[in-house]
Amino acid sequence: MRLLSTAAILLCCLAPLAKADTLAVQKLVEPRLTVAPAGNAKHIRVALTFDACMGKADERILTTLVRERIPATIFVTSRWLKHNPETVAVLRENSDLFELENHGENHIPAVDIPVAIYGIPAAGSPEAVGREVGRGADAMLAAGLPRPHWFRGATAKYDLSAIREIRAMGFKIAGYSLNGDDGSLLGAAAAEKRIAAAKDGDVVISHINQPTHAAGEGVARALVDLKNRGAEFVRLSDFEASGDHETTAKLPGLF
Ligand SMILES: [Zn+2]
Repeated sequence: MRLLSTAAILLCCLAPLAKADTLAVQKLVEPRLTVAPAGNAKHIRVALTFDACMGKADERILTTLVRERIPATIFVTSRWLKHNPETVAVLRENSDLFELENHGENHIPAVDIPVAIYGIPAAGSPEAVGREVGRGADAMLAAGLPRPHWFRGATAKYDLSAIREIRAMGFKIAGYSLNGDDGSLLGAAAAEKRIAAAKDGDVVISHINQPTHAAGEGVARALVDLKNRGAEFVRLSDFEASGDHETTAKLPGLF
């Protein structure tokens, strides 16, 4: 009886919180981004993007990109930069291939309301969003990397006011059109199949920081598959890329 009443109290107290959380999550957007398609039957144009959230570097993917001379855009956090100096050196040595962009300071979702996304607490206020974005860029400059022009937040979800704030800080926001690895949780065969089936103009998101996950093996194989299909690989800053929710549009006062 006591257990039952404790459960009832917990339920009655937690239910409104859970409802508020659900409503807040419903206000979030996960922007889509594509590059201008090649528009011919001969080849497809694809922008490969990789997130380096935290943890280590996936050598299976990195060595394939370098060996096959495949250009890509890599989003790095301050945390990842600090823990992977050897890989950062490889990326810098291959600056003709790799464009490095801003994935934030501590991999905190760039959402300015207090909410958890996939269990990760969001920044929760405009000030905290500003810190996550600004300090991510500062860490890149401190590591000797070029100033970033694109931002992608942890979980790739935002609320509209955070999007406006990040745009006002001088960044375009990188969505995607093809989820290549489901947060690096896909099996190798599934990741390979998904990425190898990219369409003309797709922006592919996958992860380059999970060397122990099976997904990376499939991602690496898909890079060769795409090259064999004759894909043209572009980086986000090389080519016209357009996103929804005003993530890339030229707006008054924004670049
Ligand atoms: Zn990430």
